[in-house]
Amino acid sequence: MNDAAFKTGTDRLAEVRRRIAEAARAAGREPASVTLVAVSKTHGADRVQELLDAGQRVFGENRVQEAEGKFPLLRARHPDLELHLIGPLQTNKTRDAVALFDVIQSVDRDRLAAILAKEMERGGRQLRCFIQVNTGEEPQKAGVLPADVDGFVAKCREAYKLPVVGLMCIPPVDEEPALHFALLAKMAARNGLGQVSMGMSADYETAIKLGATHVRVGTALFGARGT
Ligand SMILES: *Cc1c(COP(=O)(O)O)cnc(C)c1O
Repeated sequence: MNDAAFKTGTDRLAEVRRRIAEAARAAGREPASVTLVAVSKTHGADRVQELLDAGQRVFGENRVQEAEGKFPLLRARHPDLELHLIGPLQTNKTRDAVALFDVIQSVDRDRLAAILAKEMERGGRQLRCFIQVNTGEEPQKAGVLPADVDGFVAKCREAYKLPVVGLMCIPPVDEEPALHFALLAKMAARNGLGQVSMGMSADYETAIKLGATHVRVGTALFGARGT
């Protein structure tokens, strides 16, 4: 069913990169304006290494502990590796997250923003932050509500001095993602934020068309995840 399963990681990476470049050019954008975040959650370090060998450097993980199990060694071999946290961050994991990651894409509440700022200060590391927006206003999903975004961005910048660079969203599975992508891009622009993280395996080309600077792609690179 899934012919991706019979391809190597290197082949899949080349294919995704080609499609990113095509989508960017079709939108009148430079392919280099889109960063591919390879989402390696549930996959072992050997699979990540295969993509590193093929030149990929930016990876995304959704759990601090899982990332701690595979990335320190990979980073020792590839100091230019860049690791993004894309999943919910519990405040008691903030110190570990600040020590390991380079970018936090899931800043979604006031208390987390405050503690992150404190831990960055303490650790002497400034991590670029994306504010996660719950564009679908789904009760079970993390993220700031659209109506609260402007105020929250301002507070993160002014009160906490967080290095906020952009917005991130995960649209509802059963809705047209383009509407959510357009909304996120608009909110980023009006807050003077140049980076927008949106689009996954099924819809990254649409996201690029609507201005994504970061696409988070797992399945199309690594194949299906076991459950
Ligand atoms: C798992 C995950 C992805 C990647 O999803 P695919 O459909 O496998 O590409 C992207 N973003 C977040 C936040 C994720 O948790």
